Amino acid sequence: MSLPPFKRVLLKLSGEVLMGGQQFGIDPEFVAELAKEVKAAKDSGLEICLVIGGGNIFRGMAGAAKGMDRAQADYMGMLATVMNALAMQNALEQLGVPTRVQSAIEMDKVCEPVIRRRAERHLEKGRVVIFAAGVGAPYFTTDSGAALRAAEMRCDALLKGTSVDGVYDSDPKTNPAAIRYDTVDYDTVLAQNLKVMDASAVALCRDNSIPIVVFSIREQGNLARVLRGEGTQTIVTKGN
Ligand code: UDP
Repeated sequence: MSLPPFKRVLLKLSGEVLMGGQQFGIDPEFVAELAKEVKAAKDSGLEICLVIGGGNIFRGMAGAAKGMDRAQADYMGMLATVMNALAMQNALEQLGVPTRVQSAIEMDKVCEPVIRRRAERHLEKGRVVIFAAGVGAPYFTTDSGAALRAAEMRCDALLKGTSVDGVYDSDPKTNPAAIRYDTVDYDTVLAQNLKVMDASAVALCRDNSIPIVVFSIREQGNLARVLRGEGTQTIVTKGN
C-alpha cells in the first residue's frame, strides 16, 4: 500500500534512539546522525514537526513502579523530553536547519510555549518545529503528544521512528517467528493491543484519519526511503 505524497508530517522519535549505543541518556554523535536524516527529509521539500520521547532519561511509569507518585514522575518524564528537544535543536542548527522548540510546559528561558498559529508560521518559513513535553499533562505519553500535534497541525501522517522496523503480530524480540504487517487497520491494533503506540494515541489518529507509519530510524537513510514509500515499514490506517 502507498499513501498519497506528504506535504507536512509529524515525526515522532522514541527517546531511546537518542542513546545510540549507550544504555542511558543522550549520545550527541548519534543525535547528529538523526539530525542529518531530518535535514534530508526537510530538504526534500517537506514541512516537519518533531516530537521526541523521554524514555532515554526518565519514564514516569518506571518511577511509579519504584514507589514514586505517578504524576510527579510523569512531570519528570516531560522535563526529559524538553532536554531531548534541546539536544535535537542544537544538532539541527549545527547543520544549518532553522528550528524552534515549543513546550507544552511553559519554560520561557529555553523555548517557546506551544502556540499553534506561531508553529504554522515557523513551518511556512521553513523551520522545523519540535514539540516538547508531550501534551503537558501526566498519565499521557509522547505518543499521545505526537498524535495531538499531528491533528492540530493537520499533518498528512504521523511517522513513528523507533528501534523496530514496523508492527508485528507478537514481540519480535522474544518470538523469532513474529510476523510484520505491511498494513494494519487502527481497530486491529487496538483490539489486539499491538505494540505501536498507546491506545489513546492510536484512537486519536483513527478519529482524525491520520495514517501512522512505523519504521526503524536506526538504519541510515531509512527515513528518506520511507518518505519515498520504499523501505521496511508498517502503515496503520483505516480498514476497507
Ligand atoms: N509524559 C507525560 N505526559 C505527556 C508526555 C510524556 O507524563 O504528555 C511523561 C511520561 O512519564 C513518559 C515520559 O514523559 O513516560 C517520557 O515520554 P515517553 O515515555 O512517551 O517517551 P518515549 O517512550 O517515546 O521515549
